[in-house]
Amino acid sequence: MQDSYGRKIEYMRISLTEKCNLRCRYCMPVDGVDVKTHDDMLSEEELINICKVAAGLGVKKFRLTGGEPLVKKNIIDICKKIKSIPGVEELCITTNGTLLPKYIDDLKNIGIDKINISLDTLNEEKFKYITRVGSLKDTLDGIKSAIDAGVKKVKINSVLIGGFNDDEIVDFVNLTKKYPIDVRFIELMPMYDSGDFKKDSFIPAQTVLDKLDAAGIKYKKIERIDSVTGKPSDNGTAQLYRIEGALGNIGLISPLSHNFCSTCNRVRLTADGKLKPCLHSNQEINVKGLDIQEIENKFKEAIMAKPAEHDYLSSESRTKAGRNMNQIGG
Ligand code: SAM
Ligand code: SF4
Repeated sequence: MQDSYGRKIEYMRISLTEKCNLRCRYCMPVDGVDVKTHDDMLSEEELINICKVAAGLGVKKFRLTGGEPLVKKNIIDICKKIKSIPGVEELCITTNGTLLPKYIDDLKNIGIDKINISLDTLNEEKFKYITRVGSLKDTLDGIKSAIDAGVKKVKINSVLIGGFNDDEIVDFVNLTKKYPIDVRFIELMPMYDSGDFKKDSFIPAQTVLDKLDAAGIKYKKIERIDSVTGKPSDNGTAQLYRIEGALGNIGLISPLSHNFCSTCNRVRLTADGKLKPCLHSNQEINVKGLDIQEIENKFKEAIMAKPAEHDYLSSESRTKAGRNMNQIGG
């Protein structure tokens, strides 16, 4: 289905749960999630009905995120059910990787298409600092399990934080020489109340190319190919580059320095049953507690309510999302 600006909405990101086994400083508060009752959250049946409606309206790609999607009860069953909906062409997951060794065989068996794993540093102490509670080895084991299992596409997502991990950019890029993975750098977004970061923590994605230039590392820009149609496409958030001889790409995701709203093809669903037409707007359309026809009407309403673009974002102009990232899904 097209929105009112002619953008074809083909991608839904689903935050399966607000809960997480880590506490990344840019994402969620140290004391975790607000207490919500079971009844406040979508049931599995409601979730699958919403996915069926989305697929019926032309959504082809679904990404499970959170919170941490792999802490969700029945995660494998949920994946299987979504995968079997007619019209679903791709099922992807974004995870912190810590539980991947436990679930990778099941995910592979149900035919997971892409796994994105978040990793902001290759240093154990820095990892503990940024995640507040995590251990680097758990995420590295998760990445290894996904590569070893031969998942079609494995990507690492790294949030760029000035003064924290900009000194590791070349190390991250070099991972694409050694492993068949993409490494994507994401500009830090000024979320609701997760902001113990100073102005100079918000560095532009261009910093990655500057670091490669300074290190004398050659790279070239590459054309984005739509994974569903196999044709060249603008519908991605990342600008792609590749260094000579590498096995994977480098992606730059720049929600602050160059927003990609004009090609945005996505809608978001929260764990408590709200459709968010735009990540950085507080507009939310409830789809919990509705029958199929009502869900379809609300889904169409959400797509038509998608704004042309989000408000200006910077270290001083915080998001209007009204939620932290663990309640939206990134
Ligand atoms: N727990 C999973 C994970 O970490 O991959 C999925 C949920 S997490 C909210 C999804 C993505 O959002 C992660 O790649 C994370 O780094 C990113 N993210 C969270 N807060 C962010 C922020 N303030 N700015 C930029 N990216 C953020
Ligand atoms: Fe958890 Fe992912 Fe947020 Fe980190 S970024 S706290 S792993 S939901």
